[in-house]
Amino acid sequence: MSAVVTAFSPPVAREIIIHNPANGAEVGRAPVATPEEVAAAVERARAAQPAWAALSFAERARYIRRTREVILDELNTIARLISDEIGKPVAEALLHELSPSLDLMQYFARQTEKLLRPEKVALGQYGWMGRASRIVYHPVGVVGIIAPWNFPWATPLGEIVPALMAGNGVVLKPSELTPLTALKIAEVLQKAGLPEGLFSVVTGYGETGAALIAARPDKIMFTGSTATGKKIAAAAAAHLIPIVLELGGKDPMIVCADANVEVAARAAVFGAFANAGQACASVERCYVHESIAPQFIEKVVAETKKLRVNTTQTEEHEIGAMSSERQLAIVEAHVADAHSRGAEILAGGRRAPNLNGAFYEPTVLAKVNHTMDIMRDETFGPVLPIQTFKTEAEALKLANDTIFGLTAMVFTRDTARGQRLAQQIMAGTVMVNEVLYTHSIAATPWGGFKQSGYGRTHGRAGLLEMVAPQHVHINRVSFMPDLWWFNYSRTAIELFRGFSRRFASGSVFQTVLLLPQMLKRMREK
Ligand code: NAD
Repeated sequence: MSAVVTAFSPPVAREIIIHNPANGAEVGRAPVATPEEVAAAVERARAAQPAWAALSFAERARYIRRTREVILDELNTIARLISDEIGKPVAEALLHELSPSLDLMQYFARQTEKLLRPEKVALGQYGWMGRASRIVYHPVGVVGIIAPWNFPWATPLGEIVPALMAGNGVVLKPSELTPLTALKIAEVLQKAGLPEGLFSVVTGYGETGAALIAARPDKIMFTGSTATGKKIAAAAAAHLIPIVLELGGKDPMIVCADANVEVAARAAVFGAFANAGQACASVERCYVHESIAPQFIEKVVAETKKLRVNTTQTEEHEIGAMSSERQLAIVEAHVADAHSRGAEILAGGRRAPNLNGAFYEPTVLAKVNHTMDIMRDETFGPVLPIQTFKTEAEALKLANDTIFGLTAMVFTRDTARGQRLAQQIMAGTVMVNEVLYTHSIAATPWGGFKQSGYGRTHGRAGLLEMVAPQHVHINRVSFMPDLWWFNYSRTAIELFRGFSRRFASGSVFQTVLLLPQMLKRMREK
């Protein structure tokens, strides 16, 4: 399983140099794969895949379990690498990346066989006619994964593991900001003894991702921005490659009048500031009922001011560096736009003073509205804008006033009310009295509505993206021709009228009334 690639193709840079966004120190280097090298990686996966697919689920699961052991042996090294490469606290590398991926591995190692068990289809009246149908699942072949930087370990592994368990080969193109973490994934799979060539990492920029699509894998799993997702969809369409798009979000949190204010405030702070707000499921907008807004906002501000921004000297801090100066500049622009339109800055609102890295203080804004970029566009940073509402209908209207639909959150003591509101929000996941974390549950589907994408990862729905369902249909009545085969005699046409009127009603009683016509047709030559 070689990850990668050494040759050089101008005009792309030969290698990527990765700097720790917290202190600017060089963390390592990774090559930029040429299109030829990317195509070769896909071919290697294609060559290795049939033998892999021929293994039993239990045999494939053994490799995944061995990989878990390797990861557990290197837990701290991997957490440190993720932290150094992308600036997040080690605590978050453990909590958001390693722990969920280890759980996901045991889940798919255990469950894939059951989740992909061949299924009988209930055929209704066709069953009475001696027919039977089964759905069996084939691996798609080679899955190409194009991944972002914000969860550089957990996001790709959430697709690699089900893809492998379903019997596929995989080629991963990680973000240019996090190639070292991806190469570490390749290393742990290699140490677990995965067959040569079945899995590769091709590092590089957007061009390398485009080369992966051009190399025609059988499926593309893309996670990233909506803007890039549109380009991926267009490129994949040229080859009719099926794709899953996991895109951006502008996730709303509604805090109802009956919510536990203390819990909701702490949830909002965690949901907005974990991973320095760089999660597709971050709380990007908060709507609080006006009756509890003063207490809620006061508590949010107090909790925000307790957060320790990374100093890199200690592991006990909550807010890490942002991934890059580019990401930090988007946050600054959104906050400046909101401030210029009348938003009030209650906490933060600036780069962290006295720190040299890409640190932005956790920021709370009030008096915001939907004319501001901060309430419409994905900020992807540590900012929590809070708007008040008077009625449930108004809260729902505000929550749905977005082109995105990834996740949403509702806080209320009345869970029946929470469920009712949840079902009126157009988002792929809606949590009641929870924030952010369901991506960590391997068993539940993950994916968006509207411009947050289509298709799913995780759970059975995610596993089904990795396979091609095949319908096998059997006619046990092998000794006579079907009544609808040629010729179209007068008797046949009369019977077809009967099919339309009676058989197609779905009623067995009606179909029985057709028996005389059927017998007449059977006697025809
Ligand atoms: P991005 O779209 O800039 O890049 C994602 C990946 O696509 C990278 O590997 C990049 O190199 C590659 N790429 C860029 N141009 C390409 C092209 N033309 N062809 C092929 N590949 C190309 O996204 P990002 O900045 O790395 O990640 C942040 C975004 O990801 C945010 O919008 C966030 O909401 C989204 N995201 C979504 C989910 C989800 O599950 N829905 C999860 C994490 C992140």
